[in-house]
Amino acid sequence: MAKIKELDSLITDNVEFNAIIDKIKELLKNGSQKEAILIKGNKVIKNHEIYWALKYLGVKYVAVSESDEIVNVSLEFLGFYDEISDPGIRVYNNTLELIEKDKPTPLVKLNGIINDKKIGIWGKLEWYNPFSLSIKDRTAWYIILNNLDKINNKEKIIEATSANTGISLSAISSILGKKAKIFMPISSPDYADKMLKIYGSEIIREGNSTNDLIEKVKKIAEEENAFVPDQFSNIFNVLVHLRYTAKELDYQAIYGKLRLKGIFASMGTGGHIAGLLLYFHNKNKGIKIIGVQPEENSAIPGIKKQDFNKWWDIKESPDKIFSVSYDEAIDMIIKTARNNGIIPGISGGAVLAGIKKAYEEGILEEGDYVCVIPDNGIKYLDEIYEKINT
Ligand code: PLP
Repeated sequence: MAKIKELDSLITDNVEFNAIIDKIKELLKNGSQKEAILIKGNKVIKNHEIYWALKYLGVKYVAVSESDEIVNVSLEFLGFYDEISDPGIRVYNNTLELIEKDKPTPLVKLNGIINDKKIGIWGKLEWYNPFSLSIKDRTAWYIILNNLDKINNKEKIIEATSANTGISLSAISSILGKKAKIFMPISSPDYADKMLKIYGSEIIREGNSTNDLIEKVKKIAEEENAFVPDQFSNIFNVLVHLRYTAKELDYQAIYGKLRLKGIFASMGTGGHIAGLLLYFHNKNKGIKIIGVQPEENSAIPGIKKQDFNKWWDIKESPDKIFSVSYDEAIDMIIKTARNNGIIPGISGGAVLAGIKKAYEEGILEEGDYVCVIPDNGIKYLDEIYEKINT
């Protein structure tokens, strides 16, 4: 007879990530757990992939049995939305609990982005994350959380970053009593140095992009016995957005009665768009995931053109990509500020410029679209202000 147990009460073996990704897709497509996990006592003895897939989908409960059994238990019944559906009154015992539990980030309808009453444009405001005031807190927190055993006997965390991941890692290092050494390209915004210095991190500025720093960071980490989160290839950078960013959005869209047609997102490591792809391409067929990248000669902090040949191994890619210029991104920041009273960061401006282009090309359907806004314009005030004066 199948029973329902708390997932965290079970003991299991590790499994290859590729098998887990396939199982995650299957669970999302079915919307339910179809096979019970075979257990003996509290030990999983078969269907380890189902255990891990459910764990990374963030369910609380799981159907188990002591014999092979077909079940059909909906993910919702297993507590799929529980961890993001009740922010309560937001009192936390420490800042790690804050980042873990203070979810979801707000989803807000934005006015004046395009001029068409039949299309709703919504912003998911990722600057509501506490450390770097950006979406990258999610990545830093989840990679660290899932590697605590490796970090425990290291003194230091070393990472290549365009800015925000380094700031989040420095914050989390401080909480854990570790040092952080942050490698940033010359072009990274100045606010990063100030925040990193406040956290007491060591800063090394070199190279033209994070791509130039990745190998060097790995080498130095070996010499200095440091942990490298490696946001560029660590699958937890995707799984965190699957479990939280995407699931939050899904729940918010249901709750807010959106007719969700598509999601626009910028791409740096590609972590958040990959999580959105994995989730929405499998769970909600028909929702388009659209990437936004900088035009050839435009530098936009935090984002870059993707090489999909060397990308995340999730066998999904964006439905369409728009390239936008730095100036188009700044124009949209100003437009958003003057119509809504909030100032997105530059990559957020780029995402909004992307949806405006999509509208002008006539590819938006009647319904609602979400733009993921990674951080806030307060970090880039001088740059934005300069454009107002010219
Ligand atoms: N926007 C900003 C401001 C960022 O700092 C980053 C990444 O560092 C991104 C967008 C891109 O996010 P992702 O790395 O998830 O693709």
